[in-house]
Amino acid sequence: MTYTQTVTRDGETTTATISDTAALALVHRANRLSAQVTATKDGTVTLTRTRLVFADTDGETRETTTVITLTPDIKPTRLTDTQYGDLGRIRRGTGTARLAEDGSIRVRLSRIPPAAAKRLLDRGLVAADADATVQVTLAGLLAMAAHQHKVWTVGVSETVGGDFTRYHTLTGVRLERTGYFVTAYCTCHRLASHQTERATARRAARTHLEGELTAALIGA
Ligand SMILES: [Zn+2]
Repeated sequence: MTYTQTVTRDGETTTATISDTAALALVHRANRLSAQVTATKDGTVTLTRTRLVFADTDGETRETTTVITLTPDIKPTRLTDTQYGDLGRIRRGTGTARLAEDGSIRVRLSRIPPAAAKRLLDRGLVAADADATVQVTLAGLLAMAAHQHKVWTVGVSETVGGDFTRYHTLTGVRLERTGYFVTAYCTCHRLASHQTERATARRAARTHLEGELTAALIGA
């Protein structure tokens, strides 16, 4: 798995193809430098850093901003529960996961069978380096966060309670207004955004998901 890296600095843009290991190393470096890190649901990661540099005139400084975007060459797809569990084990194994000669991945006392290991490698969710150490890639980290935050929207009409107070049909939340509502939900139960437009609810879902994807990288 590779990434297209676009670097924009002082109005100049350069593009290169980099490995997923290099992409993950860049994110770690961005975190150490306290650069801004954001991720979108299509798997694109943006790193932004603004710093002071010496200007051409003596004794003066100016701000320069570097923006790096990393676009994966494989579109993100959903993980199965087993794959999510396997990635979690590799991550918790912090550097102890190894690609064995039979194609399986060994993590401490557990073993991911060759066929399942190959699927993780082929989809760029994990990468093995020269000494067969396996680590979860940038795409793997994002896929894990997306698995924890499956978002969806549901449209409902209001219902009228016994005391003529109106309640949301699904959530039971008391409504200030009546009519048709669209609610955005997430499997983490931390999102319940009641909107009157489907587009607004979808935006709320996307904002939540992308906030969680970004959080997963900041903590990486
Ligand atoms: Zn969530």
